[in-house]
Amino acid sequence: MKSVINPATEEAIEELELAGPEELNAAVEAAKTAWPKWRDVSISDRARLLRRLAGLIEDDAEHLARLETRNVGKPISDSRAEVAMVADVFHFYAGAIDKHYGETIPVEGGVDFTFREPLGVVGLITPWNFPMNIASWKLGPALACGNTVVLKPAEITPLTAMRLAGLALEAEIPEGVLNVVVGPGSVVGKTLVEHPDVAKIAFTGSTEVGRSIMKGAAGTIKRVTLELGGKSANVVFADADLDKAAGSAPIAVFGNAGQDCCARSRILVETSVFDTFVDRLINETKKITVGDPESESTQMGPLVSAQQRDTVASYVDGEAAWQGEAPSGRGYWFPPTILAPVSNDDRVAREEVFGPVVAVIPFHDEAEAIELANDTPYGLSGSVWSKDGAKALRVTRRIDSGVISINSNTSVRVSTPFGGFKQSGFGRELGMHALDGYSEVKNVYMSTEA
Ligand code: NAP
Ligand code: MG
Repeated sequence: MKSVINPATEEAIEELELAGPEELNAAVEAAKTAWPKWRDVSISDRARLLRRLAGLIEDDAEHLARLETRNVGKPISDSRAEVAMVADVFHFYAGAIDKHYGETIPVEGGVDFTFREPLGVVGLITPWNFPMNIASWKLGPALACGNTVVLKPAEITPLTAMRLAGLALEAEIPEGVLNVVVGPGSVVGKTLVEHPDVAKIAFTGSTEVGRSIMKGAAGTIKRVTLELGGKSANVVFADADLDKAAGSAPIAVFGNAGQDCCARSRILVETSVFDTFVDRLINETKKITVGDPESESTQMGPLVSAQQRDTVASYVDGEAAWQGEAPSGRGYWFPPTILAPVSNDDRVAREEVFGPVVAVIPFHDEAEAIELANDTPYGLSGSVWSKDGAKALRVTRRIDSGVISINSNTSVRVSTPFGGFKQSGFGRELGMHALDGYSEVKNVYMSTEA
């Protein structure tokens, strides 16, 4: 038995029997059996079932949000927004299925056209930081395309994924189409990755595990998409609206207690405004309410585990420019921490901290801003702040990152592609792009010769 822990109280909220390879194999078998039937469900019926699931998620929203908050420690207002996005994701893919077109291609002697065929059984492996959201980003397009799935959530935060599987059955999505298996990644995750009946693995998690998944998938030439770590730059030029840039910078890194792959954990600031910016950043960060995630006003809760807290603490050895407060006593708390000035060569600027620690790094000019932003193995997200639109766009085009915003610190939208460059992974989730990752292109030539 495994206890599922509330990170704000360290109390067990549920006891679970963990699955092993046998249960995983049974889930793959169920998905394999269900696949031909699900593939053949008409497009309008598939869309109707996904819409029904979205509706049940909306009806269950408060319960799902509470469950996510208790399991992950994230503020209840964040969990509510995340549930709303989960429902939107299913609505989006219900509406997208019949817009994922093939092509007709001019050829001689006949007609040539393409189909988008489902892959079959798809394995989904998700992390603990946004358990429900990230599961939906994979489930929506995978199911819409006509695949069946085996979802392996992170073993410490499995509760909302389990609930989603129950809601899918309630929506009358046939048994075997959406299977959830809760067990350790190194055992059931690995078995899923190597399984000969699984056509693809869609993974979100650390770059280190992503690397092992690529290797494990090689044996069966599985398709793989990887959403991995990040060390995103928030580039602030002297001519930016500093109130706006500093106003949104704290939540862009301390949101979800910094456990966000898109966290803008390196703030690059032009030297002429460096001190002013750091002062404003400190003032704005002071406004973040840290505490009980179930309280309506909380903006930052605890970290997910004691292990995560220890990892984060290891990045703060010297003196911080500013460190806030966090509750003492039970719970895996760590206060928001601002380190400044930091060199881009320091460990805290190179590695993904995945906690509420930000490194503020000075730069002199446009060229150096681009160089520093790109001086990282990652390329997931980021921002550029300047009132000079041409400069902002010029710099944005030169930053090697899959997702970037100008004069904004947002990253994710239901209808726009999300994914990484470099060691942040490959493949895109969300938007119409995600459908490409859950289908194969089949080209058909038909002779029209008499
Ligand atoms: P993780 O340690 O890589 O684990 C991710 C998932 O992989 C979990 O379900 C884990 O299972 C499973 N796993 C572990 N070892 C495995 C193996 N050998 N084979 C197959 N599966 C295995 O990541 P995490 O600690 O949960 O999450 C934090 C990381 O996720 C950060 O690096 C963050 O940047 C990244 N992330 C990326 C994105 C993105 O979209 N790019 C979004 C969110 C998070 P168990 O934990 O149950 O063992
Ligand atoms: Mg991990």
